[in-house]
Amino acid sequence: MKLTSKAAFRKLAALYKRMGDAYADAATRVGLSCADCEDNCCTSYFQHHTYVEWAYLWHGLNALPEARRQDYLARAEDYAAQARQALDAGERPRIMCPLNDGGLCGVYEHRLMICRMHGVPNVLVKPNGQRVQFAGCFRSQALTREVDDVFVLDRTPLYRDLARLEMDYLGSKLRQLPRVDLTLAEMLVAGPPRF
Ligand code: SF4
Repeated sequence: MKLTSKAAFRKLAALYKRMGDAYADAATRVGLSCADCEDNCCTSYFQHHTYVEWAYLWHGLNALPEARRQDYLARAEDYAAQARQALDAGERPRIMCPLNDGGLCGVYEHRLMICRMHGVPNVLVKPNGQRVQFAGCFRSQALTREVDDVFVLDRTPLYRDLARLEMDYLGSKLRQLPRVDLTLAEMLVAGPPRF
């Protein structure tokens, strides 16, 4: 049976909590802290792939004061235009996320999975068995370069549970809807998902 938005959001919040706990544990093992970092992960260019995260992001945005939401939406339009320019020039965009306010996330509780998992060394085993390894952020790589037995966070069960939640959220619509492949700015510009 298809989940209601309320039930799906409750499950997603619980899954995000697990991601946060797994990330914190991995960061402690690696010795990684974001304090005083001269870089900012929020300029990383990512696509996101689930309707349930897209809807939950908008759930958070809709709880904000109107003026603030409109400010974020205007920034998202700028971001999308700048990203297109960079891509047309053959460059990978490196633009500050439209939801970042002076280094702080404007939708912290509703931020997307990748925002929560970026940084520590991690691995993902895809459903086809392909193993994809990520070395982590530049600080993480520096910390682990000389280490023989680096702790690597396995994202696989977390991704699997997100994929299952997406199926339960979409129900029979799953096969009719186009695949989500949007940057966060594009999710803002497009408005909440409709189906
Ligand atoms: S949603 Fe928040 S944490 Fe994610 S990139 Fe934007 S500002 Fe950073």
